[in-house]
Amino acid sequence: MSQRATARVSLADMMGMKAEGEGNNVDVFNQPKCTVCNIIETDGRKLLTCTRCKKTRYCSKNCQADNWGTHKSTCKAQNYILKISLCPTEITNPSVNRTLSCPSTATFEQLHRALQIAFGWAGTQTYDFKILDPNAQQPEPQPDMIAYVTRRLAALEAAQSSDSLMPDAGPRQNLLRIIEKGAFRPGEFDMGSGKKVDAMHNSERVHSQTPEIDSKKIKLGKVLENKEYEGAELQYEYDFGDCWQHTIQVVGRMEASKGFLCFDGEGHGVAEDAGSVPGWLELREAYRTANPTTEQMEKRTWFETMASNNDPRGLGNGSEWYWDGPAAVSAKLRRDL
Ligand SMILES: [Zn+2]
Ligand SMILES: [Zn+2]
Repeated sequence: MSQRATARVSLADMMGMKAEGEGNNVDVFNQPKCTVCNIIETDGRKLLTCTRCKKTRYCSKNCQADNWGTHKSTCKAQNYILKISLCPTEITNPSVNRTLSCPSTATFEQLHRALQIAFGWAGTQTYDFKILDPNAQQPEPQPDMIAYVTRRLAALEAAQSSDSLMPDAGPRQNLLRIIEKGAFRPGEFDMGSGKKVDAMHNSERVHSQTPEIDSKKIKLGKVLENKEYEGAELQYEYDFGDCWQHTIQVVGRMEASKGFLCFDGEGHGVAEDAGSVPGWLELREAYRTANPTTEQMEKRTWFETMASNNDPRGLGNGSEWYWDGPAAVSAKLRRDL
């Protein structure tokens, strides 16, 4: 049956449209309509949209309930289009960002691996995701003694002396922290255990009021649909030593897909262990200058041969803008995830 034949328009609908006048003709056949009974949407009657696929429309809860048995096999939650930016206020011209389409059923551990691929990280360090508490104050509103003592003890353990302790600023309280389980255990670090070295800084990130969850056990949809987190900033931090902060913004939704896809991006991936943002900016500078110093030449050699995500081409001649591009990154995401 054609759309035209199945669109059900009531007399009241007709009257309503007529009343809207000549200059404001409503095309009744292109109006959204209920999947089950074809009743159309009007100003006076808004249709419901399936909250999962955000596509299928219903006139009522009854129609939706009737249809669920057949709809559930095709109903898939839409992907999130995420724009992820690495230290966006500090790294500019070029900035380093990627835009990915991510299945809502992917876990945060899978998102971590997708980000490693998309940004060209080497995966030698640990990570977490944080949902920042918009009401958190800096410094901490209340001294968190348990976290403070844990941090101090861990710092002591790591330093083996008290004179290299960092001033204690306290971690920011988060609504949720999503962690790599097994990379560390609270208050414990042992060089021989095979845990990632930067995990020694984990204790600085533990907060007694912030719940933690294993990244393998939580899916994107669970966090991004959670009303409690609405409007809160989502961050991905990679490497607890260099502290690479990635801000994650939901910029749209699109049809569900099985895997991750890359759409867009800018900037060469940052060198692992570059020494945080200042180290990366210095490395860029080492390539921009016409007359590099000995130290700058050493930096270049390090990046081209030694860095764990080294690039033999370096960053000269505009290569700092170079990245693999959406097609190659998407192919890698399909292959390696
Ligand atoms: Zn209906
Ligand atoms: Zn649906």
